[in-house]
Amino acid sequence: MIASERGEVGLAAGIALLRDGASAMDAVEAAIRVVESNEADHFVGVGGLPNLLGEVELDASIMDGATRRAGAVGAVRGFPHPISIARAICEQLPQHLLLVGAGAERFADEAGIERGETLTDEARQIWRDGLSPAGLERAEGMHGLGEVAYRQQALDRLKAMSPPDGPWGTVNVIGMDAGGNLAVGVSTSGYPWKYPGRVGDSALIGSGNYCDNSVGGAACTGRGELAIRGNTARSVLQGLAAGHDPVKACCEALAETLALPDQFRAPLQALCLTPDGRHGGASTRAASTYGVMTASDHDFRIVQRGQV
Ligand code: ASP
Repeated sequence: MIASERGEVGLAAGIALLRDGASAMDAVEAAIRVVESNEADHFVGVGGLPNLLGEVELDASIMDGATRRAGAVGAVRGFPHPISIARAICEQLPQHLLLVGAGAERFADEAGIERGETLTDEARQIWRDGLSPAGLERAEGMHGLGEVAYRQQALDRLKAMSPPDGPWGTVNVIGMDAGGNLAVGVSTSGYPWKYPGRVGDSALIGSGNYCDNSVGGAACTGRGELAIRGNTARSVLQGLAAGHDPVKACCEALAETLALPDQFRAPLQALCLTPDGRHGGASTRAASTYGVMTASDHDFRIVQRGQV
């Protein structure tokens, strides 16, 4: 199994299941649930930073490399484990793949997925600290999304947005089971202070997540709108299919995506695992890493990504 920065906390749980013969889908979901429960992580699940209105909205997806079936959710509120809603869509609602907002929440209730508070006091404070006093007053006094002042605040905040120091963003977990099946899971609270209803690449198959047993699994973190425009996860698999090694496949997919014009430049990362167990990653940041753990390991180890 491999996991992007801060996803390492889930690797032991996923590997324990794989050792017992569980499927890659089960192991990836279990690993991501651990990350979603980690309140210290402000970009995934419980403790995730809220949107501009102060509401935590979560995106997630999971894809099965054996069948290329997938499930995904966007802008879900009030559920700590969006990865499990995505999994349930994949298994129980095969005529659909992606549900968003109220429909996703309705389905989650029907599927018996646990509700829970996702906004922590610490995340609320970081959210407040990130808004100017005038902006905070506007955001907290909002009456409707059509309000001009609100839209201006959203745009100002997006323009001013720069990533905090250190690793931040979405979590990717890619796993392979004893039968050689691959699965990819992605979970995120998206951009802090994002416009309500904004859905990023993490929920979009092909962009932030793609998995095909015959080629590999790939996933992205970082500037989601770029990964959507570049269809970056699928693009990594095209590189693997063309015979590139995992690092080169990730580097080339990022380079191709980064050639797109974008006024909100922010880091972008890709990660992949092949059916023969090779793995690699790339980032636009220096010193970006990912975690790796196999069934015979006692703990995960950290591997450097290539830099684009
Ligand atoms: N890719 C995520 C999104 O666009 C954000 C991130 O990884 O930082 O929602």
